[in-house]
Amino acid sequence: MRQVYQQLPSTLFQVTQPTPVNEPGLLLYNAPLAKQLAVPNELTPSHSEVAAYFTGNQLLDPEASLAMGYAGHQFGHYNPQLGDGRAHMLGQLGGYDWQLKGSGLTKYSRGGDGRCALGPAVREYIMSEAMHSLGVPAMRTLAVATTGEKVYRQQGLEQGAVVSRIGASHIRVGSFQYAAGQGKVQALADFTIEQLYPDAANAEQPYLALYHSVQTRLIETLVHWYRVGFIHGVMNTDNIALSGETFDFGPCAMLGDYKLEQVYSSIDHQGRYAFGNQKPIMQWNLARFAETLIPLMDGSKDDAIATLTAAVESFDSEFSHAYDTMCANKLGFSEATSANQPLVQEFWQLLQANAWDYTQTFNQLTDFLKGMDPELPVELVAWTDEWQREVNTQHALVLMAKVNPKAVPRNHEVEALISAAERGEQDIQHQVDTYLAYLAGTGGKTDASWGIPDAQFDQQYQTFCGT
Ligand code: AMP
Ligand code: MG
Repeated sequence: MRQVYQQLPSTLFQVTQPTPVNEPGLLLYNAPLAKQLAVPNELTPSHSEVAAYFTGNQLLDPEASLAMGYAGHQFGHYNPQLGDGRAHMLGQLGGYDWQLKGSGLTKYSRGGDGRCALGPAVREYIMSEAMHSLGVPAMRTLAVATTGEKVYRQQGLEQGAVVSRIGASHIRVGSFQYAAGQGKVQALADFTIEQLYPDAANAEQPYLALYHSVQTRLIETLVHWYRVGFIHGVMNTDNIALSGETFDFGPCAMLGDYKLEQVYSSIDHQGRYAFGNQKPIMQWNLARFAETLIPLMDGSKDDAIATLTAAVESFDSEFSHAYDTMCANKLGFSEATSANQPLVQEFWQLLQANAWDYTQTFNQLTDFLKGMDPELPVELVAWTDEWQREVNTQHALVLMAKVNPKAVPRNHEVEALISAAERGEQDIQHQVDTYLAYLAGTGGKTDASWGIPDAQFDQQYQTFCGT
C-alpha cells in the first residue's frame, strides 16, 4: 500500500500500528465511497474479515501504518506537541489518505486512551457525508466499526468505535507549526506543493504561491460553511487542513435560527468559534501558517515578514468578494453588483435582526418565486415585492436551487440517529443511508418530521469534542 507520508523527514511521524480490539464489528459502511475508491476485496462487506480491517486488527500493509506529529493553537494557546494520539494513517486508497481514528495509543497520545466513542464516530460519518452531499469540501467516512470495548468519557462508559476517515491530505496548519519547530518546514512545504498544489512549483516564489493557494482553498470552504450554516466548533490550527477539506466533526453543529453569535460547543465559553467568528478565525489561522513560511521566503527576514503580512491581509478582499457573491447567489443574483447590493444587504440585515431559521427562510423565498404562497414573515413582505421586480425569476430559481440547501442535517435529527446507533438498533445502516439520501435529495423524506426546525432543541443544544 502506498504511504506518501514516509517521504517526509522521519521526525515528523512515528512508524506505529493500531492496537487490536476485542471484537471487531462493522456498524456503518459507505458503499458508494468504497466503489469510488475502488477498495480492495478485504474492505468489502462480503469479506469475512472486513470488520477486522476497519478496526486495525488486520492490516493490508503493516509497513505503511504511521502516526503523524503536529502542533497547534488550541483556543489560541500554542501546544507544540499534539499529533495523531488515537489515529493511524494506513496508506492511500484510490489516491486518498485512509486514516483510522480510535485505533489505539501512539507516542502522541499524551494522557488520552487512543480510543473513540461510538456516538462521535457516528456523528463523524453523518456530518462528513452530509457536508459532502451539500457541496462543501469535506473529508469523508468510509466506515465505522465497533470494538466490543468500553471507553470512559465525560458522560460515563460508552461503546468504543473506530472511524475510517478518507481525505485528500491530512497536512494541517499544525503540521507546519510542528515542522517549523524542528527546522523541517521546507521539506514539508515541498511535499505539500507536490501533493496538493503542483502549480505553485512553477511560480516565481513557490512558497508564497503555496500560501495563496491554501488561502484561496480555505476561503472557498469557509464561504460554503456560511452558505449552509455550518459551525465547525473547534477551528484550532491542528483542525485546519491545507487541502481545504472540512474535518474533525466532534463539536460541529448546524445553524437553525440565523445568529452570528451562535455557539454550540460546551467548551467554547468565549464564543471564539461562533458562527460569525469563523471568518476572522480562519484568517488568524492562516497568519499562523504564514509565520511558518518566513524562513523560506526570498530576501531578508523583514522583507519576508512584509511579503507574508501583505499576503495575509489580502484575505479580507478575497473573502469579501467570495462571501458577497454567495450572499447574492442565495437570493438568485449571479453576482454582487452595485445595483443589487442595497437589496441584498437589506435582506441579510432583516435575517439577522429577526433570527429567522436560516434554511427555511431561503426555501420560503424559493416557494414565493415559484408563485406558491409560503408563510413569509410580515417583515419580509415589502422586501419581497421589490426583490421580485429586480430578480430574473427563471434564472434565480435555477441558481437558488443550486446554492440553497433544501435540507441540512439538523442537530436534533443527527442526535436522534446517534442515539439509535448507541441503543444498538439493528437497522442503523438503513436509517443512516435513508437520512443521507434525503439530505442529498436522492431519496424521499421518509420521516415526516425531518426538515422541521426545532428552535427549542437548538437553544439548549451542546456539543462535545468527543475525546
Ligand atoms: P481533537 O480534539 O480530536 O482535534 O484532538 C486534539 C488532540 O488530542 C489530537 O492530538 C488528538 O490526537 C488528541 N486526542 C484526542 N482524543 C484522544 C484520545 N482519546 N486519546 C489520545 N489522544 C487523543
Ligand atoms: Mg483534531
